[in-house]
Amino acid sequence: MPKLATAVDSLFAEVRSSIENAHALGMYDPVTSLPNRLHFRSEADKMLAARAAATLAAMLFVDLDRFKNVNDSLGHARGDHLLIMVANRLRVVVTAEVGERPGQRPILARLAGDEFTIFFPEIETVADAERVARRIALAISEPFELSGHSIDIGASVGVAIGPDHGTTIETLMRAADIAMYQAKNNGGGRYCLFSEELAAEHQRKVDTEAALGEAVQRGEFLLALQPQLSLITGEIVGAEALLRWNHPREGMRAPATFIPIAEQTGIIGEVGDWVIAEVGSMLSEWQAQGIARRVSFNVSPRQLDRADFFQRLRAAFVQVDVPLSLIELEFTESAAMEVSETVLEEIAALRRDGATIAIDDFGTGYSNIARLRAMPLDRVKLDPSLIAEIETCEKARVVVQAVVQLIKGVGAEIVAEAVENVAQADILRAMGCDTIQGFIFAHPMFEEEFLNWTRNAERGRSRDVA
Ligand code: C2E
Ligand code: MG
Ligand code: MG
Repeated sequence: MPKLATAVDSLFAEVRSSIENAHALGMYDPVTSLPNRLHFRSEADKMLAARAAATLAAMLFVDLDRFKNVNDSLGHARGDHLLIMVANRLRVVVTAEVGERPGQRPILARLAGDEFTIFFPEIETVADAERVARRIALAISEPFELSGHSIDIGASVGVAIGPDHGTTIETLMRAADIAMYQAKNNGGGRYCLFSEELAAEHQRKVDTEAALGEAVQRGEFLLALQPQLSLITGEIVGAEALLRWNHPREGMRAPATFIPIAEQTGIIGEVGDWVIAEVGSMLSEWQAQGIARRVSFNVSPRQLDRADFFQRLRAAFVQVDVPLSLIELEFTESAAMEVSETVLEEIAALRRDGATIAIDDFGTGYSNIARLRAMPLDRVKLDPSLIAEIETCEKARVVVQAVVQLIKGVGAEIVAEAVENVAQADILRAMGCDTIQGFIFAHPMFEEEFLNWTRNAERGRSRDVA
């Protein structure tokens, strides 16, 4: 017996030392004991070269959702512990897969931080890879028990298939990475399969990101102005400033094609500053010409991340000697519902000093009625999706009527956005809507055209009145 024990001991010692050697050689991740990036690359390269030509290969890229929160709030030691548990769940999924389809010899690795990757050199169908990806997303969506805390994270999984999406490990990894980003953009906790359209979209995003960085300095932004018409008095009561990007190659670009990217990258701060400065200098010029017209502009929630946002906003208008009563700030419904108490106080102070406050795109987010009542608020802009069907659908009318009543109940005015025909305008007026903005009477226009347009509209109105 003692002899056997010694033999087992020495065998273990040998195994341990070979594992330690492998670690020392820098092949394994010390936290999870999974192969590291370098080891993964060289092994996967060999596997790809050795595989049967007629089969498919699958690359899965796994990135955890909300992992940073755990690291930040519970500390790195617990973060590491969580990574070990994640690695174990991934091992279970991969092992189960091999159990069901014994021919497969995948490699699972930790690339860096909260990124893992799995390479299957030989799969039969794309559906096989998708099934594994789905199982991974599911496995990681189950809560983790971490020193008494129940932790909810998720995984975004990108899937690329060789040879269609790449014939080298590097191109497959890049494709799986792009697909992973899409899964994350779609909300995380899911997988996404790579496609050429996805790659084109990704490239466009990368190009936009790079070009946005220089667009402000190059003076490529413009403001279009869209008038707002009172349904009660027939007067032009204001205008909304809408950003346009005169892209050097692509021409005029609408905000939907770049605002979300500017928000993700943080460039929105600089872009938003430009909008504020431009509205300020425009209003100041108008004042000199005897024109006093209120201009609304959109504020992204990311702009509010900067602690000095309101201070700088005020300074911008003081500098050009424009009273705050000439501006209106538009916050989207979801942004308005999420702002902190401090921001709410700043908004209230701005409002006391004359600025008006609007909630934009109302009806697309969720509203907390108590918050809506407490919010310092002048106007609520109904989202186009609410208005689109009011002339054709009874249910849509009932909903809009209820929303109008709710908003009136909190003492705010109603602006209906994207009103496109007379039937809609008539229904909205009958419902008690105060103001409309829409193609029915004016598209967004650049400054000179806008000024001509308003001059003509006012001349027409005074003729009508006379
Ligand atoms: P929004 O603030 O809700 O602006 C209204 C959008 O509806 C504008 O689109 C406008 O052109 C469009 N619209 C107006 N009337 C009609 C109509 O009758 N029919 C239809 N179908 N559409 C109409 P635009 O200019 O493309 O702006 C889209 C969004 O981009 C804006 O929605 C706003 O959320 C954002 N945005 C625009 N400028 C800025 C900005 O300076 N900063 C930030 N953060 N966001 C901006
Ligand atoms: Mg708006
Ligand atoms: Mg809107």
